[in-house]
Amino acid sequence: MLSTDTIVAPATPPGEGGIGIVRLSGSRATACLAEVFRSKTTTPAKMESHRLYLGGLYNNRDELVDEVLAVVMRGPRSYTGEDVVEVHCHGGAQVLRSVLDLFLETGAKMAGPGEFTQRAFLNGRLDLAQAEAVIEVIRARSERASRVALDQLKGRLSREIHLFSQQVKDALALLEAHIDFPDDEVGELDLPALLDPLHRVARQMHALAESFDLGRVLREGVSILILGRPNVGKSSLMNAILGESRAIVTEVAGTTRDTLEEQLVLAGFPVRLIDAAGVRDTDDPVEQEGVRRARHKASSADLILMVIDGSVPLDDEDLLALELCRPDKTLVVINKSDQAQHCDVSGLAGFEHRVAVSAKYNQGLADLAQAIVRHLAEDSSLADNEGVVITERRHRDALLSGKKALDELFVSAASAAPRECLAMDLREVLGALGRITGETTPDEILEQIFSRFCIGK
Ligand code: GDP
Repeated sequence: MLSTDTIVAPATPPGEGGIGIVRLSGSRATACLAEVFRSKTTTPAKMESHRLYLGGLYNNRDELVDEVLAVVMRGPRSYTGEDVVEVHCHGGAQVLRSVLDLFLETGAKMAGPGEFTQRAFLNGRLDLAQAEAVIEVIRARSERASRVALDQLKGRLSREIHLFSQQVKDALALLEAHIDFPDDEVGELDLPALLDPLHRVARQMHALAESFDLGRVLREGVSILILGRPNVGKSSLMNAILGESRAIVTEVAGTTRDTLEEQLVLAGFPVRLIDAAGVRDTDDPVEQEGVRRARHKASSADLILMVIDGSVPLDDEDLLALELCRPDKTLVVINKSDQAQHCDVSGLAGFEHRVAVSAKYNQGLADLAQAIVRHLAEDSSLADNEGVVITERRHRDALLSGKKALDELFVSAASAAPRECLAMDLREVLGALGRITGETTPDEILEQIFSRFCIGK
């Protein structure tokens, strides 16, 4: 799978910027640079590794393409483990395109998505969990998310997995000794002593798999759904919250009947704030579709802000919307607190978490934010966790399948199954753990993982 071509790609995103970086990796990286780079002080072959040199890039008509800083990072002490060259050019789209063309003319091939990181993995610079963390670091949307991703990049998860593997390997070695040699040569097999550390590993693997709940939230964001019948002030509330947080990131989709989603950061959590379609009992097929989606979103949201209009009595449509809400996941927002209140809160029995706000006049929003944070903090799966956190569903599945193999082993051991069976279970656990770090990951899964990366990474 490892191609020996020297590859090239822009390492900075498209668009204008102060600088733009073009990166090369491969055995010919320095030679490619030497064909186009001229500096008063040195030549690429003589450049000190990891040091920037000022010079010019010239095309084959001897015209200056850009004035740049170039650095050679000689393998194996580089990101990919191969010789890597980076050229810091001016950050304009045309300049970058010309510089890229220049290197393509020297024989470098355009890099595929994630190919630099894939080479780093194949050359043993990073294991698979670390390689996956690269993309998480880039995509992290809150401080906590980036801390977890950086931990993983630095190998914290991998070390944990290796600790598990080591204990399983120790048990397997012992077991194999007792399979290969008669007991009178190697002594009686002390099964409880063999199983004891494995029980501990099983518990730890299970706990690590469970950390995925927090990992998912850090990665995808806490989803907070704004629900309520039309005209209670859902859009106004969404705008008010976003205005307070001053952190509008992206608008994902939006029509009045569809859902509108915005992203912000609240108490260190990336939050996806979703405005559901108005909930209304109706025969209009489009509106019905909206209600169906609202129902679906309500069931999957981490928290619902159920908005009612405090200036009027509750009506059937409010009750219909309330029906979609699970009380423990719902915060009732009584809006329009600037007006005389006519809402009979006895209709909200069962929904004890309530906050009064005026979305229009920005009142009560701090209380609302506090109530949201309190709710998130109470959710034990989201509590601040200094342990290792996994963010990939793939990792969770591998941990659970390893744990399952261990459980099978415990059952077999209790029923005095042959030692070969126990050994087989242990090998299965090792296989599952190895899929996380990439030792036993099938090629097509590897391809799939790296194809999620952008070009240049
Ligand atoms: P949605 O249909 O639930 O999204 O409701 P909108 O946000 O479009 O608001 C419906 C109407 O209520 C608009 O005329 C808003 O100006 C008004 N409104 C929203 N929030 C408040 C509020 O806090 N106080 C008052 N007096 N009016 C509000």
